[in-house]
Amino acid sequence: MNFLEKGYQTGNVWLPGLDITVYLNSNQFFRNDGIVKDMQIHTNKVYYEINPRIKHDSYPIPLGRCIITYDERSNIAAAIFVKENDPINHIFNYGHESVEALIKYGRGDVLLDELKKEGFFIDPFQRYNDTENIANIGGFLALHKKNYRDCSMNCPELQELYSEFLDSYKKQK
Ligand SMILES: [Zn+2]
Repeated sequence: MNFLEKGYQTGNVWLPGLDITVYLNSNQFFRNDGIVKDMQIHTNKVYYEINPRIKHDSYPIPLGRCIITYDERSNIAAAIFVKENDPINHIFNYGHESVEALIKYGRGDVLLDELKKEGFFIDPFQRYNDTENIANIGGFLALHKKNYRDCSMNCPELQELYSEFLDSYKKQK
């Protein structure tokens, strides 16, 4: 698949949510599909582009997605998008999906640098062993950068993680 023809970019790309520009290698591609009304329809559209024979179904339907494609020349492409929702959710989910893309590119260092720059001395890669938690830290960071200091999302399962994130603020180890 010719990723550039499909609207992917390489080189300097801007990651939404995290609101940073990273430099991708020439075998790494990124596309931000933005805010979509219907996650399932858009997911199928992206998979259809990759391979029309793939039929994709997954439940529950997530609030954001990062779809990874590898081609035969070991290029890697990430397409991210988030579900239409309220603006706070968009920021969090963009941050989350941007981190998932970074992890797939093997560029976790970008997240670590950005956390430090913003004053958070936490290494999610050492602390958590699942990608979801690491990506959620990216979501919190995205909210922080947009000055959302009180992350009172109706998401009780994230409260503990959020406390750990806040606790790491300005606490250099
Ligand atoms: Zn995720």
